[in-house]
Amino acid sequence: MGTGRALLAGGPTAGESDLIGHLGPDILADAFPADGLAQSLERLARHPARTVGDALLDQRNVAGIGTMYMAETLFLQGVSPWQPVDEVDLPAALHRARRLMVRGATQAQQNTTGDPRRGQDMFVHGRSGRPCRRCGGSVRVAMIGEPTRERTAFYCPACQPGPTPTDDGRPQRPLGTGSRRPVGGSTRVQTYRPGRARG
Ligand SMILES: [Zn+2]
Repeated sequence: MGTGRALLAGGPTAGESDLIGHLGPDILADAFPADGLAQSLERLARHPARTVGDALLDQRNVAGIGTMYMAETLFLQGVSPWQPVDEVDLPAALHRARRLMVRGATQAQQNTTGDPRRGQDMFVHGRSGRPCRRCGGSVRVAMIGEPTRERTAFYCPACQPGPTPTDDGRPQRPLGTGSRRPVGGSTRVQTYRPGRARG
């Protein structure tokens, strides 16, 4: 699920008329480990300074990863979403994302923690302002990506040390408990699915 939506949200840049032609390898394809992975790595390497969170969401690099699996994958890897691509173990991150997504595809209700209870089913996604399941610190959210194409990135600053250039550092309330949008309360919030913000 979600590939088409993620594709639209990832959006083509100006001049790209043949969107499908630019899609990267499908991370859920059977052939991904043997074939697609190498192609994705090659595409990711073209922009070594790009933030890894933004790069993983770019469907031209690898098709299928949305904001939820990006956030959960990078949490489990202990990598800041704003870490430059060339400083990240990308094969490990892509294998992790694929494992999470394959598992998620077989579940009635997606969860990455193995705990399906409300508010316990994600490590960081949708959990800003709540305690990190691993360290107890406060999970945060900030925008990632180029202006006009920003997406949400949930993360734990303690478990994922590294750059956080778009996080203003202000206290964040748990989603759903205040009127204030998490960050940048603009149209881009549409790429975040409020359905995950439970608990
Ligand atoms: Zn943590």
